[in-house]
Amino acid sequence: MHVTDFIIAGGGLIGLLTARELHQAGASVTVVERGATGQESSWAGGGILSPLYPWRGPEAVTALVRWSQERYPILAHTLADETGMDVEWIQNGLLILDTEEKERALAWANQSGIRLYLINHAAILQHEPRLAVMTNEALWLPDVAQIRNPRLLKALRHSLLASGVVIKEHSEIKGLIAGADRIQGIETASGSILASKVVVAAGAWSDNLLKNFGFHEKIMPVRGQMILFRAAPGLVSRIVIHKDHYVVPRRDGRILAGSTVEYAGFDKSTTHQALMELRQAAVALVPALAECEIEHHWAGLRPGTAEARNGVPYIGEHPRVRGLYVNTGHFRNGVVMAPASARLLADIIFERAPIVDPVPYQILGHC
Ligand SMILES: Cc1cc2nc3c(=O)[nH]c(=O)nc-3n(C[C@H](O)[C@H](O)[C@H](O)COP(=O)(O)OP(=O)(O)OC[C@H]3O[C@@H](n4cnc5c(N)ncnc54)[C@H](O)[C@@H]3O)c2cc1C
Repeated sequence: MHVTDFIIAGGGLIGLLTARELHQAGASVTVVERGATGQESSWAGGGILSPLYPWRGPEAVTALVRWSQERYPILAHTLADETGMDVEWIQNGLLILDTEEKERALAWANQSGIRLYLINHAAILQHEPRLAVMTNEALWLPDVAQIRNPRLLKALRHSLLASGVVIKEHSEIKGLIAGADRIQGIETASGSILASKVVVAAGAWSDNLLKNFGFHEKIMPVRGQMILFRAAPGLVSRIVIHKDHYVVPRRDGRILAGSTVEYAGFDKSTTHQALMELRQAAVALVPALAECEIEHHWAGLRPGTAEARNGVPYIGEHPRVRGLYVNTGHFRNGVVMAPASARLLADIIFERAPIVDPVPYQILGHC
């Protein structure tokens, strides 16, 4: 029987970064993943290191976003040193063509010390000459970056394995093992693994593991479909958003276009309707994309939460079961919030001064 200090249930970005934090603090860590690590929502995402309309989010989201945004370049460089892999952290900025909320956006940026400018039509075209600009103004956030999330996940896996973290793939957790008030481990098809601390980081599937533990706040799958154009480098240089649709140019010229927000249960299939919608929105923004091949079309399941939660994830210890921790519910911003979420949970576990106030993320009162 395998014994470890910590079990991380789920090998998405949240689970892998949590494993890294705990291991760096000196603990022995085992990540248990149903499939291969980093193949679900964290892989499917756009890798935009910002909420799409960042002024709309609650302070609890902004706090995790800002901490992570500062750390991402360091993480990218460290992973490159450790693994030789370039995870393509690129600070190419975010251009938002919706300006209906410009006063609110500018006030938020001013208060938060974030660089955000209102630019005119000529300046938009100067930034992005191939855009079909349908607005006279745009909001420009030059400091926003992107990351190539599939590469980030691969690099993290390599780094964790090299550092001695155990990763058990193709090993579905059937249930948690707990005594009256304390976690004892997990049950998989091939046997149990004992640990005095278990972190549930199972993304959209977290409820399956927590439902018998009085976790009444729903984590629900929210499907997001994306398409990938094969384009020549330089067609678009920045992340551009218009009416909830966006394009993200990768370094090799490929352009991601996303995304849908669908409440379709645990159904990860793609639809022709979404393909048409995404293509149409992307071509409306960048007409030259009409000539580009669509190389790939996929869907991922975001770990969504109730509307009232406003995208704030659950990070902390279960109020009744000692040693059972949760790091989940990151909905649309899990890539950008991941480093801070992992660090905050490690701070809570090791009783260190937390990087941000942990209260808004607590599951207290929901169990
Ligand atoms: C189309 C799309 C676009 C997105 N764009 C962005 C973006 O640009 N920026 C951003 O910040 N966020 C974005 N997101 C959101 C982000 O991807 C998620 O919030 C984040 O990846 C959640 O990470 P996670 O580790 O919790 O979940 P996941 O990556 O889904 O990982 C959970 C893991 O748990 C495993 N698991 C589940 N149940 C079990 C079990 N019983 N036993 C063992 N393992 C189990 C799963 O197999 C999976 O590997 C996007 C999401 C989608 C779908």
